[in-house]
Amino acid sequence: MLTRNLLLRLSESQSLKNFLTRFKSFNNVTRRFVAGEEIADAVEAIRALNKKGAGASFDHLGESIKSEAETRVEVGEYLRLLESIRDCELDSNVSVKLTQLGLDIDGELCLENARTIIEAAGRLGNFVRIDMEDSTKTGATIRIFERLRTDFDNVGIVIQSYLYRSEKDIDHLIEIGARVRLCKGAYNEPASVAFPRKADVDGNYVRLMEKLLESGKYHGIATHDEAMIAATKSHARARGVSADKFEFQMLFGIRRDLQERLIKEGYRVRVYVPYGRFWYPYFMRRLAERPANVGFVLRNMLKG
Ligand SMILES: Cc1cc2nc3c(=O)[nH]c(=O)nc-3n(C[C@H](O)[C@H](O)[C@H](O)COP(=O)(O)OP(=O)(O)OC[C@H]3O[C@@H](n4cnc5c(N)ncnc54)[C@H](O)[C@@H]3O)c2cc1C
Repeated sequence: MLTRNLLLRLSESQSLKNFLTRFKSFNNVTRRFVAGEEIADAVEAIRALNKKGAGASFDHLGESIKSEAETRVEVGEYLRLLESIRDCELDSNVSVKLTQLGLDIDGELCLENARTIIEAAGRLGNFVRIDMEDSTKTGATIRIFERLRTDFDNVGIVIQSYLYRSEKDIDHLIEIGARVRLCKGAYNEPASVAFPRKADVDGNYVRLMEKLLESGKYHGIATHDEAMIAATKSHARARGVSADKFEFQMLFGIRRDLQERLIKEGYRVRVYVPYGRFWYPYFMRRLAERPANVGFVLRNMLKG
């Protein structure tokens, strides 16, 4: 837990980022979790995933946006992504963080930017997933999602099982017919808002997953945890929810063996494919989830 918290704190450190990126071999290591810096890199990664029978979700890594102009650039990137999906005939949707669209600058600006992307996605028969960030953004993210949901069907949200508030949020989201991606949560949260013990996070995950499967909507069960996956399969069987009524979701480069196994078993799998220049915080969150990954990184850096 100490290592996890430390790595999450370091994910915000600009000086560590500057130090690490001086090593050429470090950039190769990041490729384990990040498809590359350009749209074309992510397109290639998604083509390969589609060939194996997995769907995908593009994520442009662009945290800490400070100006309205930067949010417009971000919208442009997402519009290009949606066109690439159509032109390259990919099985993929897109995931976006509201801070990239201006959540920290002005809620109305953020809403307008999100609308532009969701409208374009709708015209192309595509879907937009709004990622969930740290707990200081949860309330605002859900409020903006609710406003979008009244006008659009092709938008979904993410809920994190580590937050105490999530059960209430899920009940409400089910009531308004939302499509939810359920994950455990990736940020460094205090015990005042989030379960500190993994067993409680997992217990809540199972409880929320059961509610989602019973809701009759199409949801994403996002996890690499075999116990969560087994619980999902077993609940779906018990409630007669067929394998085409939900999907498992995993992150690019993590548990590829499990992704392939689930596809062979007849389940739907979608892989989240991040790309872009601002990969550092995302990469550090992946290390924090499995501190053994730090060994992998160091070994590869020394080789380089
Ligand atoms: C598709 C998708 C979208 C996500 N979107 C969000 C989001 O919007 N907001 C948010 O806060 N979080 C998001 N997450 C991250 C999520 O919250 C967790 O941090 C992450 O998925 C790890 O949790 P886990 O369910 O895999 O379980 P854990 O208990 O953390 O891990 C279970 C097992 O999975 C494997 N594993 C997990 N992580 C790694 C890793 N980094 N490297 C290698 N093996 C690993 C290990 O075998 C581990 O034992 C997303 C995750 C996925 C899969």
